[in-house]
Amino acid sequence: MRKNKKGKLFFSLAGLMAVPILILGVILVIVGKQSVSEGMELEIQKSLAGIARETMDIYGLAYPGEIQMEDDRFYMGGVDLTGDCTLADRIKENTGADISIFWQNKRVITTIRDKNGERIINTTLDDERILNAVLSGNECYSRNVQIRNMGYFAYYVPLYNNGEVCGMIFAGTSNESVVANVQTIVTKIILVFVIALAVMLAVVSVFAGSIVDCVNKVRYYISGLADNDFTNQMPRTVLRRNDEIGDMGRHAVEVAETIKELIATDGLTGLYNRRAGRTELAKCMEEVSRGRDGYVTVAMGDIDFFKQINDHYGHECGDKVLVTIAGIFKKHLEKKGFPIRWGGEEFLLVFKEDGETALSSLQKIVEEICNKTFDYGDCQFSVTITFGVARYDGKDSMDSLIKKADDLLYRGKAEGRNRIVV
Ligand code: GH3
Ligand code: MG
Ligand code: MG
Repeated sequence: MRKNKKGKLFFSLAGLMAVPILILGVILVIVGKQSVSEGMELEIQKSLAGIARETMDIYGLAYPGEIQMEDDRFYMGGVDLTGDCTLADRIKENTGADISIFWQNKRVITTIRDKNGERIINTTLDDERILNAVLSGNECYSRNVQIRNMGYFAYYVPLYNNGEVCGMIFAGTSNESVVANVQTIVTKIILVFVIALAVMLAVVSVFAGSIVDCVNKVRYYISGLADNDFTNQMPRTVLRRNDEIGDMGRHAVEVAETIKELIATDGLTGLYNRRAGRTELAKCMEEVSRGRDGYVTVAMGDIDFFKQINDHYGHECGDKVLVTIAGIFKKHLEKKGFPIRWGGEEFLLVFKEDGETALSSLQKIVEEICNKTFDYGDCQFSVTITFGVARYDGKDSMDSLIKKADDLLYRGKAEGRNRIVV
Protein backbone atom coordinates (compact mmCIF):
# COMPACT_ATOMS: atom_id res chain seq x y z
CA MET A 1 0.00 0.00 0.00
CA ARG A 2 1.25 3.45 -0.87
CA LYS A 3 1.51 5.59 2.18
CA ASN A 4 0.24 9.13 2.46
CA LYS A 5 1.01 11.38 5.38
CA LYS A 6 -0.90 9.73 8.17
CA GLY A 7 -3.88 11.56 9.58
CA LYS A 8 -3.65 14.53 7.22
CA LEU A 9 -7.27 14.20 6.14
CA PHE A 10 -8.37 13.72 9.74
CA PHE A 11 -6.73 16.96 10.81
CA SER A 12 -8.12 18.79 7.76
CA LEU A 13 -11.65 17.65 8.62
CA ALA A 14 -11.23 18.32 12.33
CA GLY A 15 -9.77 21.76 11.50
CA LEU A 16 -12.62 22.46 9.09
CA MET A 17 -15.11 21.98 11.89
CA ALA A 18 -13.09 23.21 14.86
CA VAL A 19 -11.65 26.44 13.39
CA PRO A 20 -15.05 28.13 12.78
CA ILE A 21 -16.10 27.12 16.30
CA LEU A 22 -12.89 28.59 17.68
CA ILE A 23 -13.35 31.84 15.73
CA LEU A 24 -16.98 32.00 16.84
CA GLY A 25 -15.87 31.51 20.44
CA VAL A 26 -13.28 34.29 20.28
CA ILE A 27 -15.85 36.66 18.73
CA LEU A 28 -18.36 35.62 21.40
CA VAL A 29 -15.88 36.37 24.19
CA ILE A 30 -14.88 39.76 22.73
CA VAL A 31 -18.45 40.85 21.98
CA GLY A 32 -19.66 39.41 25.30
CA LYS A 33 -17.00 41.29 27.24
CA GLN A 34 -17.82 44.49 25.37
CA SER A 35 -21.58 44.16 25.94
CA VAL A 36 -21.18 43.26 29.60
CA SER A 37 -18.83 46.21 30.14
CA GLU A 38 -21.13 48.64 28.35
CA GLY A 39 -24.23 47.34 30.14
CA MET A 40 -22.52 47.57 33.52
CA GLU A 41 -21.18 51.03 32.85
CA LEU A 42 -24.63 52.30 31.95
CA GLU A 43 -26.00 50.90 35.18
CA ILE A 44 -23.11 52.42 37.16
CA GLN A 45 -23.64 55.82 35.55
CA LYS A 46 -27.34 55.75 36.46
CA SER A 47 -26.76 54.64 40.01
CA LEU A 48 -23.92 57.18 40.60
CA ALA A 49 -26.17 59.97 39.29
CA GLY A 50 -28.85 58.89 41.78
CA ILE A 51 -26.39 58.71 44.68
CA ALA A 52 -24.88 62.15 43.87
CA ARG A 53 -28.33 63.77 43.72
CA GLU A 54 -29.48 62.01 46.90
CA THR A 55 -26.32 63.13 48.70
CA MET A 56 -27.18 66.69 47.76
CA ASP A 57 -30.72 66.24 49.13
CA ILE A 58 -29.51 64.57 52.34
CA TYR A 59 -27.01 67.36 53.04
CA GLY A 60 -29.62 69.99 52.11
CA LEU A 61 -32.09 68.47 54.59
CA ALA A 62 -29.48 67.95 57.32
CA TYR A 63 -27.93 71.40 56.98
CA PRO A 64 -30.49 73.73 55.39
CA GLY A 65 -29.29 77.22 54.60
CA GLU A 66 -26.23 78.99 53.27
CA ILE A 67 -23.15 77.17 52.00
CA GLN A 68 -20.07 79.19 52.72
CA MET A 69 -16.28 79.12 52.88
CA GLU A 70 -14.81 81.48 55.45
CA ASP A 71 -11.24 81.53 56.69
CA ASP A 72 -10.67 78.14 55.11
CA ARG A 73 -13.61 76.68 57.05
CA PHE A 74 -16.56 75.11 55.29
CA TYR A 75 -20.10 75.85 56.53
CA MET A 76 -23.43 74.40 55.54
CA GLY A 77 -26.55 75.96 57.09
CA GLY A 78 -24.30 77.69 59.55
CA VAL A 79 -22.74 74.41 60.78
CA ASP A 80 -18.98 74.11 60.53
CA LEU A 81 -18.45 70.92 58.58
CA THR A 82 -14.72 71.37 58.06
CA GLY A 83 -13.21 67.88 58.15
CA ASP A 84 -16.57 66.37 59.24
CA CYS A 85 -17.25 63.46 56.91
CA THR A 86 -19.69 61.53 59.15
CA LEU A 87 -22.69 61.91 56.87
CA ALA A 88 -20.67 61.16 53.74
CA ASP A 89 -19.27 58.03 55.40
CA ARG A 90 -22.83 56.91 56.24
CA ILE A 91 -23.89 57.36 52.63
CA LYS A 92 -20.85 55.36 51.49
CA GLU A 93 -21.79 52.61 53.94
CA ASN A 94 -25.29 52.40 52.49
CA THR A 95 -24.48 52.76 48.79
CA GLY A 96 -20.91 51.50 48.42
CA ALA A 97 -20.02 54.63 46.45
CA ASP A 98 -17.35 57.16 47.44
CA ILE A 99 -18.63 60.67 48.11
CA SER A 100 -16.88 64.04 47.89
CA ILE A 101 -18.18 67.56 48.36
CA PHE A 102 -16.27 70.33 46.58
CA TRP A 103 -16.12 74.03 47.32
CA GLN A 104 -15.36 75.29 43.86
CA ASN A 105 -12.73 72.72 42.76
CA LYS A 106 -11.49 71.93 46.24
CA ARG A 107 -12.50 68.74 48.12
CA VAL A 108 -13.78 69.79 51.53
CA ILE A 109 -15.54 66.58 52.53
CA THR A 110 -14.59 63.13 51.18
CA THR A 111 -14.76 59.43 51.90
CA ILE A 112 -11.69 58.75 49.75
CA ARG A 113 -8.51 57.99 51.61
CA ASP A 114 -4.91 57.75 50.43
CA LYS A 115 -2.56 54.80 50.90
CA ASN A 116 -1.86 55.85 54.47
CA GLY A 117 -5.55 55.94 55.31
CA GLU A 118 -5.68 59.77 55.37
CA ARG A 119 -8.69 61.45 53.80
CA ILE A 120 -7.64 63.42 50.76
CA ILE A 121 -9.36 66.61 51.97
CA ASN A 122 -8.25 69.90 50.37
CA THR A 123 -7.03 68.23 47.19
CA THR A 124 -8.39 69.72 43.95
CA LEU A 125 -10.12 68.51 40.84
CA ASP A 126 -8.11 69.73 37.87
CA ASP A 127 -10.05 68.23 34.97
CA GLU A 128 -10.99 71.34 32.94
CA ARG A 129 -13.78 69.61 31.05
CA ILE A 130 -15.57 68.46 34.22
CA LEU A 131 -14.97 71.72 36.08
CA ASN A 132 -16.26 73.89 33.25
CA ALA A 133 -19.31 71.70 32.79
CA VAL A 134 -20.28 71.40 36.45
CA LEU A 135 -19.47 74.95 37.53
CA SER A 136 -21.61 76.22 34.70
CA GLY A 137 -24.55 74.21 36.09
CA ASN A 138 -24.42 70.85 34.27
CA GLU A 139 -24.18 67.34 35.63
CA CYS A 140 -21.17 65.47 34.32
CA TYR A 141 -20.11 61.82 34.00
CA SER A 142 -16.62 60.47 33.39
CA ARG A 143 -15.56 56.86 33.07
CA ASN A 144 -11.99 57.49 34.05
CA VAL A 145 -11.21 60.14 36.61
CA GLN A 146 -7.78 59.69 38.15
CA ILE A 147 -7.73 60.24 41.91
CA ARG A 148 -4.44 59.45 43.56
CA ASN A 149 -3.50 57.07 40.71
CA MET A 150 -6.79 55.22 40.94
CA GLY A 151 -9.27 55.23 38.06
CA TYR A 152 -12.88 56.07 39.01
CA PHE A 153 -16.26 56.05 37.33
CA ALA A 154 -17.42 59.45 38.52
CA TYR A 155 -20.62 61.47 38.50
CA TYR A 156 -20.65 65.17 39.41
CA VAL A 157 -23.69 67.34 40.20
CA PRO A 158 -23.47 71.09 40.80
CA LEU A 159 -23.87 72.42 44.38
CA TYR A 160 -25.93 75.62 44.63
CA ASN A 161 -25.90 78.48 47.12
CA ASN A 162 -28.64 81.04 46.60
CA GLY A 163 -29.05 79.93 42.99
CA GLU A 164 -25.33 80.21 42.25
CA VAL A 165 -23.03 77.23 41.66
CA CYS A 166 -20.54 77.22 44.53
CA GLY A 167 -19.12 73.73 44.22
CA MET A 168 -20.13 70.18 43.37
CA ILE A 169 -20.91 66.75 44.74
CA PHE A 170 -19.05 63.70 43.50
CA ALA A 171 -20.21 60.10 43.64
CA GLY A 172 -17.79 57.53 42.30
CA THR A 173 -16.72 53.94 42.27
CA SER A 174 -13.28 52.56 41.44
CA ASN A 175 -12.72 50.95 38.05
CA GLU A 176 -10.99 48.02 39.69
CA SER A 177 -14.14 46.57 41.23
CA VAL A 178 -16.01 46.88 37.91
CA VAL A 179 -13.17 45.31 35.95
CA ALA A 180 -13.16 42.42 38.44
CA ASN A 181 -16.91 41.91 37.94
CA VAL A 182 -16.57 41.96 34.17
CA GLN A 183 -13.67 39.54 34.45
CA THR A 184 -15.78 37.10 36.46
CA ILE A 185 -18.55 37.14 33.85
CA VAL A 186 -16.07 36.80 30.95
CA THR A 187 -14.36 33.90 32.71
CA LYS A 188 -17.73 32.15 32.95
CA ILE A 189 -18.36 32.73 29.21
CA ILE A 190 -14.89 31.37 28.37
CA LEU A 191 -15.45 28.34 30.59
CA VAL A 192 -18.79 27.50 28.94
CA PHE A 193 -17.19 28.01 25.54
CA VAL A 194 -14.21 25.75 26.33
CA ILE A 195 -16.56 22.98 27.52
CA ALA A 196 -18.68 23.40 24.35
CA LEU A 197 -15.52 23.29 22.23
CA ALA A 198 -14.31 20.12 23.93
CA VAL A 199 -17.70 18.42 23.36
CA MET A 200 -17.68 19.60 19.72
CA LEU A 201 -14.16 18.29 19.20
CA ALA A 202 -15.11 14.91 20.66
CA VAL A 203 -18.11 14.68 18.30
CA VAL A 204 -16.03 15.92 15.36
CA SER A 205 -13.32 13.41 16.17
CA VAL A 206 -15.83 10.52 16.05
CA PHE A 207 -17.37 11.72 12.76
CA ALA A 208 -14.10 12.69 11.09
CA GLY A 209 -12.57 9.42 12.32
CA SER A 210 -15.27 7.31 10.66
CA ILE A 211 -15.00 9.28 7.40
CA VAL A 212 -11.22 9.03 7.34
CA ASP A 213 -11.42 5.31 8.14
CA CYS A 214 -13.66 4.68 5.10
CA VAL A 215 -11.57 6.94 2.84
CA ASN A 216 -8.49 4.96 3.90
CA LYS A 217 -10.22 1.68 3.04
CA VAL A 218 -11.00 2.99 -0.47
CA ARG A 219 -7.42 4.29 -0.73
CA TYR A 220 -6.04 0.89 0.27
CA TYR A 221 -8.22 -0.83 -2.34
CA ILE A 222 -7.20 1.59 -5.13
CA SER A 223 -3.50 1.45 -4.23
CA GLY A 224 -3.83 -2.34 -4.46
CA LEU A 225 -5.13 -1.94 -8.03
CA ALA A 226 -2.23 0.40 -8.78
CA ASP A 227 0.13 -2.38 -7.64
CA ASN A 228 -1.68 -4.87 -9.91
CA ASP A 229 -3.32 -6.59 -6.94
CA PHE A 230 -6.95 -7.42 -7.71
CA THR A 231 -7.46 -9.73 -4.75
CA ASN A 232 -8.60 -7.10 -2.23
CA GLN A 233 -12.30 -6.87 -1.38
CA MET A 234 -13.94 -3.50 -0.87
CA PRO A 235 -15.10 -3.57 2.80
CA ARG A 236 -18.86 -3.67 3.40
CA THR A 237 -18.65 -0.64 5.70
CA VAL A 238 -17.74 1.41 2.62
CA LEU A 239 -20.24 -0.20 0.24
CA ARG A 240 -23.07 0.26 2.75
CA ARG A 241 -22.51 4.03 2.91
CA ASN A 242 -25.11 6.13 1.19
CA ASP A 243 -22.87 9.10 0.54
CA GLU A 244 -20.04 10.25 -1.76
CA ILE A 245 -17.53 7.94 -0.06
CA GLY A 246 -19.88 4.99 -0.66
CA ASP A 247 -20.16 6.09 -4.33
CA MET A 248 -16.37 6.33 -4.53
CA GLY A 249 -16.04 2.79 -3.16
CA ARG A 250 -18.63 1.37 -5.58
CA HIS A 251 -17.01 3.17 -8.53
CA ALA A 252 -13.59 1.83 -7.50
CA VAL A 253 -15.04 -1.70 -7.58
CA GLU A 254 -16.57 -1.03 -11.03
CA VAL A 255 -13.25 0.34 -12.26
CA ALA A 256 -11.48 -2.76 -10.93
CA GLU A 257 -13.96 -5.02 -12.73
CA THR A 258 -13.52 -3.08 -15.97
CA ILE A 259 -9.73 -3.19 -15.68
CA LYS A 260 -9.83 -6.92 -14.94
CA GLU A 261 -11.96 -7.44 -18.03
CA LEU A 262 -9.74 -5.20 -20.18
CA ILE A 263 -6.63 -7.00 -19.02
CA ALA A 264 -8.13 -10.43 -19.60
CA THR A 265 -9.97 -10.02 -22.89
CA ASP A 266 -9.06 -9.42 -26.47
CA GLY A 267 -10.45 -6.09 -27.62
CA LEU A 268 -11.69 -7.28 -31.02
CA THR A 269 -13.34 -10.62 -30.26
CA GLY A 270 -14.05 -10.37 -26.53
CA LEU A 271 -12.37 -13.75 -26.00
CA TYR A 272 -9.69 -14.34 -23.38
CA ASN A 273 -6.37 -13.00 -24.60
CA ARG A 274 -3.33 -15.24 -24.50
CA ARG A 275 -2.21 -14.14 -21.00
CA ALA A 276 -5.61 -14.61 -19.31
CA GLY A 277 -6.22 -17.76 -21.39
CA ARG A 278 -3.02 -19.34 -20.10
CA THR A 279 -4.06 -18.53 -16.50
CA GLU A 280 -7.46 -20.19 -17.02
CA LEU A 281 -5.93 -23.18 -18.79
CA ALA A 282 -3.43 -23.60 -15.95
CA LYS A 283 -6.34 -23.78 -13.47
CA CYS A 284 -8.08 -26.50 -15.56
CA MET A 285 -4.87 -28.47 -15.94
CA GLU A 286 -4.25 -28.33 -12.21
CA GLU A 287 -7.72 -29.67 -11.47
CA VAL A 288 -7.04 -32.60 -13.79
CA SER A 289 -3.52 -33.26 -12.55
CA ARG A 290 -4.79 -33.37 -8.97
CA GLY A 291 -7.38 -35.86 -10.11
CA ARG A 292 -10.20 -33.64 -8.98
CA ASP A 293 -11.92 -33.00 -12.23
CA GLY A 294 -12.41 -34.63 -15.68
CA TYR A 295 -10.39 -33.85 -18.76
CA VAL A 296 -8.68 -31.14 -20.73
CA THR A 297 -8.37 -31.29 -24.51
CA VAL A 298 -6.95 -28.40 -26.45
CA ALA A 299 -7.38 -27.56 -30.13
CA MET A 300 -5.10 -25.02 -31.79
CA GLY A 301 -6.81 -23.54 -34.87
CA ASP A 302 -5.64 -21.20 -37.60
CA ILE A 303 -7.85 -19.72 -40.31
CA ASP A 304 -6.72 -20.83 -43.75
CA PHE A 305 -5.41 -18.24 -46.18
CA PHE A 306 -6.60 -15.44 -43.99
CA LYS A 307 -4.11 -13.07 -45.50
CA GLN A 308 -5.95 -13.42 -48.79
CA ILE A 309 -9.22 -12.36 -47.14
CA ASN A 310 -7.55 -9.23 -45.90
CA ASP A 311 -5.99 -8.64 -49.28
CA HIS A 312 -9.23 -9.18 -51.22
CA TYR A 313 -11.84 -7.65 -48.97
CA GLY A 314 -9.85 -5.40 -46.71
CA HIS A 315 -8.71 -5.54 -43.11
CA GLU A 316 -12.09 -4.42 -41.79
CA CYS A 317 -13.79 -7.36 -43.47
CA GLY A 318 -11.07 -9.62 -42.02
CA ASP A 319 -11.94 -8.28 -38.57
CA LYS A 320 -15.60 -9.13 -39.09
CA VAL A 321 -14.65 -12.68 -40.00
CA LEU A 322 -12.57 -12.96 -36.82
CA VAL A 323 -15.48 -11.65 -34.72
CA THR A 324 -17.97 -14.02 -36.37
CA ILE A 325 -15.75 -17.05 -35.88
CA ALA A 326 -15.06 -16.03 -32.27
CA GLY A 327 -18.85 -15.88 -31.77
CA ILE A 328 -19.19 -19.45 -33.09
CA PHE A 329 -16.46 -20.64 -30.69
CA LYS A 330 -18.16 -18.93 -27.75
CA LYS A 331 -21.55 -20.40 -28.58
CA HIS A 332 -20.29 -23.96 -28.89
CA LEU A 333 -17.93 -23.91 -25.93
CA GLU A 334 -20.40 -22.56 -23.43
CA LYS A 335 -20.26 -24.82 -20.35
CA LYS A 336 -17.82 -27.13 -22.18
CA GLY A 337 -14.72 -24.97 -21.98
CA PHE A 338 -13.53 -21.69 -23.42
CA PRO A 339 -11.87 -20.22 -26.51
CA ILE A 340 -8.69 -18.08 -26.40
CA ARG A 341 -7.53 -15.69 -29.09
CA TRP A 342 -3.98 -16.96 -29.21
CA GLY A 343 -2.87 -14.28 -31.67
CA GLY A 344 -3.80 -12.92 -35.13
CA GLU A 345 -6.07 -15.54 -36.75
CA GLU A 346 -5.00 -18.28 -34.35
CA PHE A 347 -7.32 -19.59 -31.63
CA LEU A 348 -6.81 -22.11 -28.87
CA LEU A 349 -9.97 -23.93 -27.87
CA VAL A 350 -9.95 -25.51 -24.41
CA PHE A 351 -12.44 -28.34 -23.93
CA LYS A 352 -13.09 -29.70 -20.47
CA GLU A 353 -14.01 -32.90 -22.18
CA ASP A 354 -12.28 -36.15 -23.02
CA GLY A 355 -10.62 -36.42 -26.42
CA GLU A 356 -13.52 -38.07 -28.24
CA THR A 357 -16.27 -35.77 -26.98
CA ALA A 358 -14.08 -32.76 -27.61
CA LEU A 359 -13.44 -33.99 -31.14
CA SER A 360 -17.11 -34.30 -31.94
CA SER A 361 -17.75 -30.81 -30.48
CA LEU A 362 -14.90 -29.48 -32.61
CA GLN A 363 -16.27 -31.10 -35.74
CA LYS A 364 -19.55 -29.29 -35.23
CA ILE A 365 -17.67 -26.01 -34.80
CA VAL A 366 -15.64 -26.51 -37.96
CA GLU A 367 -18.77 -27.49 -39.86
CA GLU A 368 -20.57 -24.31 -38.85
CA ILE A 369 -17.57 -22.15 -39.80
CA CYS A 370 -17.24 -23.81 -43.23
CA ASN A 371 -20.95 -23.48 -43.91
CA LYS A 372 -20.98 -19.85 -42.93
CA THR A 373 -21.27 -17.46 -45.86
CA PHE A 374 -19.70 -14.02 -45.45
CA ASP A 375 -21.04 -11.09 -47.46
CA TYR A 376 -18.80 -8.40 -48.77
CA GLY A 377 -20.68 -5.98 -51.04
CA ASP A 378 -21.84 -8.09 -53.95
CA CYS A 379 -19.33 -10.81 -53.16
CA GLN A 380 -19.82 -13.78 -50.94
CA PHE A 381 -17.14 -15.98 -49.58
CA SER A 382 -16.55 -18.65 -46.98
CA VAL A 383 -13.54 -19.63 -44.91
CA THR A 384 -11.97 -22.83 -43.71
CA ILE A 385 -9.91 -23.51 -40.65
CA THR A 386 -7.32 -26.10 -39.68
CA PHE A 387 -7.02 -27.58 -36.17
CA GLY A 388 -4.44 -29.62 -34.30
CA VAL A 389 -5.87 -31.43 -31.26
CA ALA A 390 -4.00 -32.63 -28.14
CA ARG A 391 -5.35 -34.35 -25.05
CA TYR A 392 -3.92 -33.51 -21.64
CA ASP A 393 -2.62 -36.61 -19.89
CA GLY A 394 -2.22 -35.00 -16.48
CA LYS A 395 1.56 -34.79 -16.81
CA ASP A 396 2.30 -32.47 -19.73
CA SER A 397 3.42 -28.95 -19.06
CA MET A 398 1.23 -26.32 -20.61
CA ASP A 399 3.87 -25.43 -23.17
CA SER A 400 4.40 -29.02 -24.23
CA LEU A 401 0.64 -29.60 -24.48
CA ILE A 402 0.26 -26.52 -26.67
CA LYS A 403 3.28 -27.49 -28.74
CA LYS A 404 1.69 -30.86 -29.45
CA ALA A 405 -1.47 -29.17 -30.73
CA ASP A 406 0.58 -26.62 -32.67
CA ASP A 407 2.68 -29.31 -34.35
CA LEU A 408 -0.47 -31.13 -35.42
CA LEU A 409 -1.95 -27.89 -36.72
CA TYR A 410 1.09 -27.33 -38.93
CA ARG A 411 0.87 -30.90 -40.12
CA GLY A 412 -2.74 -30.14 -41.10
CA LYS A 413 -1.61 -27.03 -42.95
CA ALA A 414 1.06 -29.00 -44.75
CA GLU A 415 -1.37 -31.76 -45.64
CA GLY A 416 -3.69 -29.29 -47.40
CA ARG A 417 -5.56 -27.34 -44.66
CA ASN A 418 -9.33 -27.41 -43.81
CA ARG A 419 -8.99 -30.37 -41.49
CA ILE A 420 -8.68 -31.52 -37.91
CA VAL A 421 -5.49 -33.41 -37.07
CA VAL A 422 -5.47 -35.54 -33.94
P1 GH3 B 1 -2.28 -19.96 -43.61
O1 GH3 B 1 -3.39 -20.73 -44.20
O2 GH3 B 1 -0.95 -20.55 -43.86
O3 GH3 B 1 -2.52 -19.73 -42.18
O4 GH3 B 1 -2.28 -18.60 -44.35
P2 GH3 B 1 -2.65 -17.23 -43.77
O5 GH3 B 1 -2.74 -16.26 -44.84
O6 GH3 B 1 -3.83 -17.35 -42.88
O7 GH3 B 1 -1.41 -16.95 -42.83
P3 GH3 B 1 -0.48 -15.72 -42.67
O8 GH3 B 1 0.29 -15.93 -41.40
O9 GH3 B 1 0.33 -15.55 -43.92
O10 GH3 B 1 -1.42 -14.52 -42.55
C1 GH3 B 1 -2.13 -14.24 -41.41
C2 GH3 B 1 -2.81 -12.90 -41.61
O11 GH3 B 1 -3.69 -12.61 -40.60
C3 GH3 B 1 -1.81 -11.79 -41.73
C4 GH3 B 1 -2.38 -10.71 -40.83
O12 GH3 B 1 -2.46 -9.48 -41.49
C5 GH3 B 1 -3.78 -11.21 -40.54
N1 GH3 B 1 -4.22 -10.75 -39.29
C6 GH3 B 1 -3.69 -11.01 -38.08
N2 GH3 B 1 -4.42 -10.39 -37.12
C7 GH3 B 1 -5.44 -9.75 -37.73
C8 GH3 B 1 -6.53 -8.95 -37.28
O13 GH3 B 1 -6.71 -8.70 -36.09
N3 GH3 B 1 -7.39 -8.48 -38.19
C9 GH3 B 1 -7.23 -8.73 -39.52
N4 GH3 B 1 -8.13 -8.23 -40.36
N5 GH3 B 1 -6.22 -9.44 -39.97
C10 GH3 B 1 -5.32 -9.98 -39.09
MG1 MG C 1 -1.37 -17.88 -38.62
MG1 MG D 1 -3.79 -18.65 -41.20
